[in-house]
Amino acid sequence: MKITVAKSAGYCFGVSRAVNIVEELLDKGEKVCTLGPIIHNPQKVREFEARGVKTAETPEQADKNSILVIRAHGIPSQTEEKIKSLGLKYENATCPFVIKIHNIVLQHSKICDIILIAGDKSHPEVQGILGHCSSECHIFLNSDELDELLEKFPYIKEKSVCVVAQTTFDMTEWKKCLSKVKKLCTNAKIYDTICNATSVRQSEAEILASQSDLMLVIGGRHSSNTNKLFNICKSRCAETYLIETADELPVSAIKKSCSIGVTAGASTPASIIKEVLKTMSEEIKEKKVEEGEENFKELLEESLKTYNTDGRVKGIVVGITPTEVRVDVGRKQTGIVPLSELSSDPNAKTEDLVKIGDELDLKIMKTNDQEGTILLSKRIIDSQRGWDEIVKACEEKTVVTGIVTEVVKGGVVAVSNGVKVFIPQSLTGLKKGADISVLLKQEVSFYVIETTYQRRRAVGSIRAVEREESKKKAEAFWADAEVGKKYTGTVKSLTSYGAFVDIGGIDGMVHISELSWNRIKHPSEVVNVGDTIEVYIKALDQEKNKISLGYKKAEDNPWEILKNEYPVGTVCEVEIVGLTQFGAFARIINNIDGLIHVSQISNERIEKPQDVLSVGQKVNAKITAIDFDKKRISLSIKAANETAEEDA
Ligand code: SF4
Repeated sequence: MKITVAKSAGYCFGVSRAVNIVEELLDKGEKVCTLGPIIHNPQKVREFEARGVKTAETPEQADKNSILVIRAHGIPSQTEEKIKSLGLKYENATCPFVIKIHNIVLQHSKICDIILIAGDKSHPEVQGILGHCSSECHIFLNSDELDELLEKFPYIKEKSVCVVAQTTFDMTEWKKCLSKVKKLCTNAKIYDTICNATSVRQSEAEILASQSDLMLVIGGRHSSNTNKLFNICKSRCAETYLIETADELPVSAIKKSCSIGVTAGASTPASIIKEVLKTMSEEIKEKKVEEGEENFKELLEESLKTYNTDGRVKGIVVGITPTEVRVDVGRKQTGIVPLSELSSDPNAKTEDLVKIGDELDLKIMKTNDQEGTILLSKRIIDSQRGWDEIVKACEEKTVVTGIVTEVVKGGVVAVSNGVKVFIPQSLTGLKKGADISVLLKQEVSFYVIETTYQRRRAVGSIRAVEREESKKKAEAFWADAEVGKKYTGTVKSLTSYGAFVDIGGIDGMVHISELSWNRIKHPSEVVNVGDTIEVYIKALDQEKNKISLGYKKAEDNPWEILKNEYPVGTVCEVEIVGLTQFGAFARIINNIDGLIHVSQISNERIEKPQDVLSVGQKVNAKITAIDFDKKRISLSIKAANETAEEDA
């Protein structure tokens, strides 16, 4: 049993490019609408539909909020004008080889009388080419139709003619048509516009079919190039089957065959080809086991090796520049990974990401045979792997870390595992109205709170992590908090009634009256936001989550100072701070005033204190009594004078 897979089976450059454009737009979170199915493969179209991609048949049907993608087949110039006039945002994924034909017919419409197109007039690519012709134009499907055309319009032979072909036109038929045109039309400019991908596929399929007992052509039944491959293979191998998926495998015929050839249309995804090969392996395995042959596995693996089934390659870094990395992917083309495809971090530098000799997993984005290059992406592979990690983190509610790379409208974007995660401003953990750019380039921890597979969109919350940490700290605090316990805290905010102090993840409040022994009007007279201060717990209420803190110290209590330094009998200088009919109030130390009764002011008889004293005046007075309970102090100038006289 031999299975041979055609090397060129699967996506061509143009289809791969169009599919990548759609995938990239989806990865960026854009809404996408395609003008007609993006490729002629119902399975891939369904996959995109599941990711929210819509299909519009005309520009008028397109969703105005989506980016309209023009598929690889291209469109008539009138349709593009319509798209522009409707103000739709669009991406043109027309294959460059098709654009080349548009340009040829556009230019030759000016210098030739007639344009001849070899192709299927109902095919969108041919419709698109027709829409770029401004002179007389005719379409023929094969050499017979060309004969009919030249018979019906004999003047064509005399006119200047430009001939082009649909990119997927049958090579053999093209050769037949050309020999007729060359013979009959004396003034013909012929452009062989059959795509190289098509001709290579067709030649390979033809050779493979002629060497195989059974030929499988995998692809959509509406795909023009798949049907052509089928016809070519059928002409060489009677047992040729066109299948769209593994479900359609002709199992009994496969079991009877000794050599099986496999090819696939240019719009057949690698995943479908791989699935067909795997299913076929299971069927063959049964047969081989029945027949006692055991080496079928090696045989199948060998056949799979010939085909790179998922557009992934390994590459060794061989060169690094600031804008791109060159890799050896074991092919004749040079592999290029632009910086933008190396990492999702727009601030990243190539030299920080890779070094010479590193082996990278890469996805082929496009091959350019003319330039001999393959455009590759590491970012897409990382993003695919990373997406799984992000989804897992969301499901399992685990904290992930990422670097904030962008400030966008309404929040920031953090890159984690190569995936961009949007963190809305309200979930950044910063206060409302705060400058979120402070997070730029910072490593942040967050929970992934939402993922949308279709749009590959993930939303994160830093606040949820911070809240959880605060909760843990609060639990730890309440577990051993007690009145009198001291903490070193940071003043977080001030209000007219006190200062809020962070004492290690939990906030307590120092009431204004607890900030100072002196009378103050605002806490800012004692502390400022950001100050580190020593506090102690004055009272706790776990139910209400209230922590009252003390700041002023007992040793600074003026009554303590008075007790220690100003006992009864002390003569000291005091300042008159108030006068009444019955006496004068005098300040001994800050916050401690005593009363000098009118009878204690002078040895002489005085009518009222104002006769001999005035506010602000400093006098010597003796402390004659202290009532600590009632906070009353009696002073006497008379007694102070007597003491002075006695001392003298
Ligand atoms: S078959 Fe050729 S022309 Fe058509 S999309 Fe593919 S690469 Fe482009």
